Amino acid sequence: MRLILLGPPGAGKGTQAQRLVERHGIPQLSTGDMLRAAVKAGTEVGKRAKAVMDAGQLVSDEIVNQIVAERVDEADAKNGFILDGYPRTVPQAEALNRILAEKGRGLDAVIELKVDETALVKRMEKRVAETIAAGGTVRADDNPESFKKRLVEYREKTAPLSAYYARTGELRTVDGMADIDDVTRQIENAVAAATAGA
Ligand code: AMP
Repeated sequence: MRLILLGPPGAGKGTQAQRLVERHGIPQLSTGDMLRAAVKAGTEVGKRAKAVMDAGQLVSDEIVNQIVAERVDEADAKNGFILDGYPRTVPQAEALNRILAEKGRGLDAVIELKVDETALVKRMEKRVAETIAAGGTVRADDNPESFKKRLVEYREKTAPLSAYYARTGELRTVDGMADIDDVTRQIENAVAAATAGA
């Protein structure tokens, strides 16, 4: 099963992706996690991406498309994957189509988490406070300024993907404001409907 989770920062994509991983035994491919790992490892890609990420802007399509093309070829992704945070632009969605088509594969569904944007800043602040209280490290882009920039980037560059995937017939929408278990149920229903061809 090959899925995309779509939704603004703080919508709960990461949490829901983790649940899908446990239930379906396919990996979560988060371009944000991959880029943060590259920054931490000090690779060339990491060096190019760091300042852009810290400012809440998008890394170039060229870099992320390359990362994803390599990642989907790894053994654990052969039976499927959950893309979290990719694609984030229409050109990335087109690149993904090419990457999958070259391997004779396609997507099963694109699941959009619809959320109220005003609630997202509060969610981010809560996540930061909980992480600090638990003695964890906070992401460099989890501060109000970068977060608002990430929301603007989402609105301008990623939101058009809803219309894009609605046109291809792959889009399924769930209410991301419901409680976490309810969102999981909605996603499972959407996945079941998509894989049944409904
Ligand atoms: P995320 O963990 O998905 O919130 O991503 C954190 C940051 O990584 C984003 O704000 C971007 O700077 C960068 N990033 C992650 N995925 C992408 C992508 N598909 N395209 C461009 N930049 C990305």
